[in-house]
Amino acid sequence: MAEHQSGAGSAAQKSGRPRKLVFKVVLLGESAVGKSSIVTRFTRDEFNQYKESTIGAAFLTKEIAIDASNTVNLNIWDTAGQERYKSLAPMYYRNAEAAVVVYDITQAASFERAKSWIKELQRQAEPNIIIALAGNKTDLADRRTVSKEEGAAYAATAGLLFFETSAQSGENVGELFVSLAKKIPWPAEPVAS
Ligand code: GDP
Repeated sequence: MAEHQSGAGSAAQKSGRPRKLVFKVVLLGESAVGKSSIVTRFTRDEFNQYKESTIGAAFLTKEIAIDASNTVNLNIWDTAGQERYKSLAPMYYRNAEAAVVVYDITQAASFERAKSWIKELQRQAEPNIIIALAGNKTDLADRRTVSKEEGAAYAATAGLLFFETSAQSGENVGELFVSLAKKIPWPAEPVAS
């Protein structure tokens, strides 16, 4: 995994006074890998197997405590199904501090698609963007076609955080976003208090 400069924890400690920042996190990945289910699990701790794709919601927000006095609000953007019809506009991930690229461990094609999203992000998004790769649907282990080792090896080569998750059981969903939030470098001066 690539080493990024100071994450939130160290920057917050240095400043010595409580701070609260807002970060934009975008989700990317093939249709039906579980992007919006992951967001719903994280922000509302719910899972709805029969839900329709989200249409129109811009983002959902969740506050995370980085330490005793410092917090971040993650504004988590879902594609709202747009990836089905056309390639996503770079506007979607512009100004994002972090991205979560999701694949489905039971669909090898979605892993290949995730790799191409990652390449696009590394070419076109903010140069310091923190990227996490998430292999979702670990509760469907008997249908797995992408091994954990394959996912981890790719993430290590590309310098990404890596988690296997289940939006259904909730496994690793909180860990994914909290680790991501802690990796985002804080600006030198407070932008909100
Ligand atoms: P999106 O198009 O990537 O946003 O995917 P959705 O969140 O709409 O999920 C697509 C389908 O996969 C839905 O039927 C979800 O219920 C299901 N799904 C999402 N995450 C999981 C998971 O972790 N485990 C299982 N078994 N199903 C999931």
